[in-house]
Amino acid sequence: MDARVLYKACPLCGSDHIDKTIVGDCSRHPLYKSEVPPEMQWMDCRQCQHQFTDGYFTDDMLSIVFRSVNENQKVGYNIERQRHVSSRMIEKIIPFKSSGVWLDIGFGNGSLLFTAEEYGFEGIGIDLRPENVEAMKRLGLQAHCDLVQNISFKKKISVVSMMDVLEHMPYPKEVLEFLHPAMEEDAYLLLSMPNSENILWRLMTHQNKNPYYGELEHYHNFGRSRLYSLLGECGYEAVRYGVSERYRVCMEVVAKKR
Ligand SMILES: [Zn+2]
Repeated sequence: MDARVLYKACPLCGSDHIDKTIVGDCSRHPLYKSEVPPEMQWMDCRQCQHQFTDGYFTDDMLSIVFRSVNENQKVGYNIERQRHVSSRMIEKIIPFKSSGVWLDIGFGNGSLLFTAEEYGFEGIGIDLRPENVEAMKRLGLQAHCDLVQNISFKKKISVVSMMDVLEHMPYPKEVLEFLHPAMEEDAYLLLSMPNSENILWRLMTHQNKNPYYGELEHYHNFGRSRLYSLLGECGYEAVRYGVSERYRVCMEVVAKKR
């Protein structure tokens, strides 16, 4: 069984000037399964400097990877403490937007949506783990178990959050482009992901301790500059940079629909 569908070109810019670079090891990842090849081959795009894995998991392999869930990705995980973490994320949006539909893609433990509702937003969630979606629906929230591109939204969206999600998507640019017309004119994105452009990332890589080269479910290592230029190409403008407190070496960016 093929584990991955190989990229023939850079998934962001389409250039075929791509080279194999770093090889990571995902065999010590908590969700690792013996069916998954332990080596992760990272590629660098010579055209746009983006870094990505040599391919993304096939559907069969993805269902193997998805057999288990990190405890912190289950709906309701540590709900009371997570409410505080989520509130600090929402408060980055509040100066720009304080009501409307909040779409959270990859809602995981659901805390961001619960808290967005508390702040007065109408929450809609998407997650690829069916048990999470069922749990969310039981709690009375609108939730979908599908790719965002397959969902038609009845109302225009005011805020789209993708917290540690873009780097899991085979083609993040397609998703950003799809969302653009589904969002109202004065709408915002809230995005977090690891940032490869900082001293910590370089030190960890230099010491061969960078966990992201063995991060089983990741296909991309974004730097702040490439994220910002990608947002620009898709019709958004980054308006606020911040550090994410959820995972190591992550950035949290607010972008406005242009
Ligand atoms: Zn590229």
